[in-house]
Amino acid sequence: MRRKLVAGNWKMHGSLALTSELCEAVTAGKPYDVDVVVFPPTLYLRQAVLEVAGSGVGVGAQDVSVHAQDGAYTGEISARMIADCGAGWAIVGHSERRADFRESDHDVGRKFAAARKAGLTPVLCVGETHAEYTGGHTLEVIERQLAAVLEHNPIEAFVSAVIAYEPVWAIGSGLSATPEQAQHVHAFIRSQLGKKDANISLLTRLLYGGSVKAANAAELFAQPDVDGGLVGGASLNTEEFVKICRAAGT
Ligand code: PEP
Repeated sequence: MRRKLVAGNWKMHGSLALTSELCEAVTAGKPYDVDVVVFPPTLYLRQAVLEVAGSGVGVGAQDVSVHAQDGAYTGEISARMIADCGAGWAIVGHSERRADFRESDHDVGRKFAAARKAGLTPVLCVGETHAEYTGGHTLEVIERQLAAVLEHNPIEAFVSAVIAYEPVWAIGSGLSATPEQAQHVHAFIRSQLGKKDANISLLTRLLYGGSVKAANAAELFAQPDVDGGLVGGASLNTEEFVKICRAAGT
């Protein structure tokens, strides 16, 4: 049985004060009948870890370096440092990083491996662009993105890992995939993992991301292969985010 998970990606938003405010609201909203993780900007990671301590709410980074070893990589932050700060999770391969920072499928595979090596739970983002969607290439894009991660990682690396299907055209656009569209792609992702290991495919949590809000969360999360959500914009609105966490628990 997969426990539902709701993850809040704050992106590059926030301040010391907002981190406190969001952490306080998310922990005050408990108990949830689901796992909840927040992904603040890295600079506020340690603060968030301390503020949610003891609540059961997890904290993760929005990205990790491809480099697993310390070294002369100015500006980079390693998975080891993130774990050292007490965070337990890391998003890898978010579409904004793939598009705006030219991260390749190969980089994402290395980041997934670096996160695993440091003991972090990776949340691997996959998803097609609008052009790929309208061209009917969704499943082949997902297959390629997953295969690249599996080139750098054995299937066992997916034990307890999380995959987030985030159609790029739905992120921050207000246009969510329909529950049926999300289910179709999630079932495909599970079948791809199942080709390697049936048991691992059944245990891996698959999140949907892309304009999730309180109004559409319950319907999306009711799909059999949708195990929760990766929430961007709505995770900065505490009332809305708490409602989404509650929707996942019903
Ligand atoms: C995201 O950034 O991962 C995301 C899903 O954003 P939004 O919820 O704003 O579409």
